[in-house]
Amino acid sequence: MSNIKRVYSFGAKKAEGKADMKNLLGGKGANLAEMCLLGLPVPAGFTITTEVCTEYYENDCQLPAELMPEVWAAMQKTEETMGMKFGDPTNALLVSCRSGARSSMPGMMDTVLNIGLSSATIPGFIKKTNNPRFVWDSYRRLIMMYADVVMEKSEGLEPSDGRGIRKQLDDMLDAFKHKKGYKSDTDLNADDLKLLAEDFKKRVHASLGQPFPDDAKAQLEGSIKAVFKSWNGKKAISYRRIEGIPDEWGTAVNVQAMVFGNMGDSSATGVAFTRNPATGENVFYGEWLINAQGEDVVAGIRTPNPLNNDTKNDQNSHLKSMQEAMPSTYKELANIRDILETSFKDMLDIEFTIQENVLYMLQCRAGKRTGTAALNMAMDMLKEGLIDEKKAVTRVDPAQLDELLHPICDPAAEKKSHVVVKGLPAGPGAAVGKVVFTAEDAVIWFRKGEKVILLREETNPEDVEGMRAAEGILTARGGMTSHAALVARGWGKCCIVGAGHLHVDAATKSAKVAGTDVILKEGDVITLNGTKGNVYLGAITLMDATENPRFQDFMKLVDKFRKMGVRTNADTPADAKIAREYGAEGIGLFRTEHMFYGEGADQPLFLLRKMILSNGVEERKVALNELFAYVKKDIKATMDAMDGLPVTFRLLDPPLHEFVPQNADKQAELAKALGISVEAVAKRGESLHESNPMMGHRGVRLGVTYPEVSEMQIRAIFESSVELIKEGKDPHPEIMVPVTCDVSELDFTKKIADKVYGEVCSKFGVKAIDYKYGTMIEIPRACLLADRMAKSAEFFSFGTNDLTQMSFGFSRDDIGGFLNEYLDKKMLPADPFQTIDQDGVGQLIKMSVEKGRATRPDLKVGICGEQGGDPASVEFCFKAGLTYVSCSPYRVPIARLAAAQASIRAGK
Ligand code: PEP
Ligand code: MG
Repeated sequence: MSNIKRVYSFGAKKAEGKADMKNLLGGKGANLAEMCLLGLPVPAGFTITTEVCTEYYENDCQLPAELMPEVWAAMQKTEETMGMKFGDPTNALLVSCRSGARSSMPGMMDTVLNIGLSSATIPGFIKKTNNPRFVWDSYRRLIMMYADVVMEKSEGLEPSDGRGIRKQLDDMLDAFKHKKGYKSDTDLNADDLKLLAEDFKKRVHASLGQPFPDDAKAQLEGSIKAVFKSWNGKKAISYRRIEGIPDEWGTAVNVQAMVFGNMGDSSATGVAFTRNPATGENVFYGEWLINAQGEDVVAGIRTPNPLNNDTKNDQNSHLKSMQEAMPSTYKELANIRDILETSFKDMLDIEFTIQENVLYMLQCRAGKRTGTAALNMAMDMLKEGLIDEKKAVTRVDPAQLDELLHPICDPAAEKKSHVVVKGLPAGPGAAVGKVVFTAEDAVIWFRKGEKVILLREETNPEDVEGMRAAEGILTARGGMTSHAALVARGWGKCCIVGAGHLHVDAATKSAKVAGTDVILKEGDVITLNGTKGNVYLGAITLMDATENPRFQDFMKLVDKFRKMGVRTNADTPADAKIAREYGAEGIGLFRTEHMFYGEGADQPLFLLRKMILSNGVEERKVALNELFAYVKKDIKATMDAMDGLPVTFRLLDPPLHEFVPQNADKQAELAKALGISVEAVAKRGESLHESNPMMGHRGVRLGVTYPEVSEMQIRAIFESSVELIKEGKDPHPEIMVPVTCDVSELDFTKKIADKVYGEVCSKFGVKAIDYKYGTMIEIPRACLLADRMAKSAEFFSFGTNDLTQMSFGFSRDDIGGFLNEYLDKKMLPADPFQTIDQDGVGQLIKMSVEKGRATRPDLKVGICGEQGGDPASVEFCFKAGLTYVSCSPYRVPIARLAAAQASIRAGK
């Protein structure tokens, strides 16, 4: 690896990298290069590639020997462009050192700023800037960051009690201010800061056993190593797991000349989005702070000012916008916004700094956005001609569609409720839950099945797991670009930030609402309206945000590119109707047993129980005859709701003991109907008990032992079809046999179907009924023998719930006991019951498709396990050549989009 190029320079409108080199340079590095190529004002610097990160880890956490010479050569170029020298006593160049992975991981890795300040460079730097306060302030920030990131965290020295070096230094700063009677950091003068810096260094040495390095080069080398190290920090690992970012990618390191937003009132720093990231509206949107460094905006320590009129809201309208305070620089920035959007053809998130009235661009990347914003922007940009239809379809993450169908506060109920505190609307929709005050509690409560709202002073990257577990997030501090807002928006999670009237007391796990006597305590139920920024006490009714015409237009576009079918799993006419509205092209799984649960199920359930507990065929047939009418009614209504589209009816599947009555009343009722004693009923029930019901008397095995049950169901399907045809309808029933492992089971059931078919045709005087006969594939043996199964079956539908259970040997009902351990220990990349295990179960699927189609080339193949609505699994199904996926009604749009994106990605 010695000949590879490890460092890429940028600056002075030139760059060795470009936007499409993200894998090598990370997102930040590639885009910094691109901005230089676009002629934008970017402080010069260089990017160390992600490959070096891999080398670093392969090399036992040592930098490759060739790296630092290449770094110093690149530094020389940076020095020439900036007209300053790193470590120079009279004209020192300071640099920042930041991470930059391929895909953005906001705040998850470490950064060191102001590198290069030392006893050798400080005097000259003071002379040059003529601003000793600024220099000493920069120095004490460097000591804090370096000690925290490089000397403590990256060395694994961070104490678990939270009293790390950063906290210790923060406390020293507070104590110093207290002693002097100062209110804010800005009251500290140059001498104070100089004194503090000296004290800081002493504390660092005493606490960490090493002196803070007084040498620019040593500082930079230490910082580079620390950034690489932070790739494997706890929070970065946990973020990657949530976002599905591979561990092997590694991070790049960006070293860039420092520019300062904290050099007085002609300096400033800000963060902006080229369009509104919450709504998608085509307005420039952002926040800025005068006389501040970038971290001040993102950390949420000060409430930032609005960038312009479009960004003003109830909370910040009294603060001066950049448009008002620095009109010409604002114009320049607004112009850069246009250049960037035209070039990147996307909404970007940008960071800028103004140093003594000169504007610099520090970063740009595709901005995180809510699902609503993603959809609106995709449709707007299409209309503006910025992107084409295919691009528009790929711009919305399928998982984000969920959020568009997310609940909102019922407006009528909300009107009647009293707003207890207000904040900034950072993440859309509504959330109801019990208040918790720590990320750990959020995770614990969530695992207990509670819905929680995570209430924090402000969030930081350590909180991500808890934020993920929470229904909604509420913070007392921070702006629209604070950590909480960025992360929540990325996930489409309801979030309110900067509710300044909340005084959070972490020690007592409570929060007081200033000016009122309301105190929120752990476990209190509250409601967030993340679209408005309102917090309410108690639970407000939520409702679905449906019928958005933008959404309908987008989905039409999606279907233009979709090649694979999308059906739904529905067991009632009502579900069928909803799924049809969401675009389902049929029912891929109708679980016939569901008519025995829920509303209106009493009588059919009673008759089913009667049938189950019957003594002998004749008694069973009597019960089945009574049940027939109910089954037929249900089947007919569902085919009617799906008129013109296929409906796959699965024959009875669950083990019968599930239906045996447990309570005395029901047992007595049955005993009476059957003319036997209650004891006899209980005894017959007990005889159905099995040790392993999932592998017991269920699925097709029921039909083998009780063919009259299959017969009744099949008759109901055929008779409903004929009746519907006679009513002028167009039914397309499909009969599906569950839990099969051999073609003989299919042949056995087919004989019953053929017999009933003949009987129904002659009874109704019809020549033919259009129907299909097929099987679920949910046992590995059926996969292995798929060629034989296809001799009898016209279609396969993968029951990946059972297929996953049978392949892993993991009981689908008992995974709660161990799956989290597997995920935490990274022994599995994802829950295989949610996302198809492509390595194992996926192989079985591919093999079955091949074998099945070898026998029957026009074999239709679908999937109806839970994974059918999971975007990654949908893409897999597309690649495996499936005819359709089938999923729950609310996931139909997600599956449609995932299927369309899969065919676009495959270039089909
Ligand atoms: C399956 O096993 O994937 C399936 C759809 O059937 P059920 O969940 O009803 O067992
Ligand atoms: Mg199954």
